[in-house]
Amino acid sequence: MSSTDAARPGAAFGPEVYAARRERAAAHAREAGLTGLLVSPGPDLAYFTGYTPPETERLTLLAIPAEGTGTTGGASVVVPLLERGDLASAPGAEGLDVGTGRDGDDEHDAAARLLAADGSYAVSDATWALHVLGLQRALPGARLTAFSDAVPTLRAVKDAAEVERLAAAGAAADAAFADVLGVAFAGRRERDVAADLDRFLRERGHERVAFALEWSGPNGADPHHDASDRVIEPGDLVVLDFGGLRDGYGSDTSRTVLVAGGTDDALADQQREVYDVVRRAQQAGLDAVRPGATCQDVDRAARAVIVDAGYGEQFVHRTGHGIGTTTHEPPYMVEGEDRPIEPGMCFSVEPGVYLPGRFGVRIEDIVVAFPPDVPDGARRLNTSTHDLQTVR
Ligand code: ZN
Ligand code: ZN
Ligand code: ZN
Repeated sequence: MSSTDAARPGAAFGPEVYAARRERAAAHAREAGLTGLLVSPGPDLAYFTGYTPPETERLTLLAIPAEGTGTTGGASVVVPLLERGDLASAPGAEGLDVGTGRDGDDEHDAAARLLAADGSYAVSDATWALHVLGLQRALPGARLTAFSDAVPTLRAVKDAAEVERLAAAGAAADAAFADVLGVAFAGRRERDVAADLDRFLRERGHERVAFALEWSGPNGADPHHDASDRVIEPGDLVVLDFGGLRDGYGSDTSRTVLVAGGTDDALADQQREVYDVVRRAQQAGLDAVRPGATCQDVDRAARAVIVDAGYGEQFVHRTGHGIGTTTHEPPYMVEGEDRPIEPGMCFSVEPGVYLPGRFGVRIEDIVVAFPPDVPDGARRLNTSTHDLQTVR
């Protein structure tokens, strides 16, 4: 879920913020032994320039050299002639060296002239295959790799202004959750409640809703199931997983609620037992954010609680993922990811248990690692209660 951001003007930072990000990017590129970074429209271009053009067959490409020069880091950008004005008005365009391509020119050749023929470049993940292949054709001696392979944590550490944006997005998602607790669940279709959530997210300031997922009763056992026509029943557990972008930064949170009026006592007992396990696992994941911890430690801590309770086989996904100008990005909280957790990394902690044919439970918060007010741990950016809420 990392398509283009519809960042609104309010989402802009000052030009110095974008210049500093490009400088940090050059350092990442040097560390990775690259000649430079190539960025096309999508979340990375928004991050480095505040420019959010549509993704089209016309090439827009920002080149950030590893060995930068001057205050702008020597970054240059090729943009279609028609869109030159739009780029110029982007908040982070100041100081970029701008070249234009005309219809009929080979734009990949034009871009290639900015690059080293035998260079080694990382290309932003959202770059269309059309453009990657075009660049490769124009620069047969260059080596192209993907950001996610070469510089996966380029955007992983958030500065204070970004954490503030993520916190505001989280608070808006929490407000949308409070809103949805007031609507009727029983007797309505999953997709109707999901539509309510979508509306509440927008009313609370999201410019884009990436997902408003909702699974009730037995459907809850399918962790990435879309809202369906299933009619919600009294006694169902309902998993709500929702988020999007607010001022260009992501929210992503899950809560599981109980629909009042159930009559199956054995089911109710199991629901409460599993809910408690997931709640403890979520807390354990958060508590694992300690100085020296790695990303996989978060997964291990949350998973251990669920395994101990006998539900290890029913926790079928990783514990978390990073969030920023997209709703899913590195770093991933998963076994095998032994990268250390750094101050300013923002990610989800979202264990779940899914019992086929019965129900599912997930609790998800976004957290920030080692913020100034919690220097040896994590702070939640979602503060909705973890107590099981009952809806009508
Ligand atoms: Zn997901
Ligand atoms: Zn989620
Ligand atoms: Zn998530």
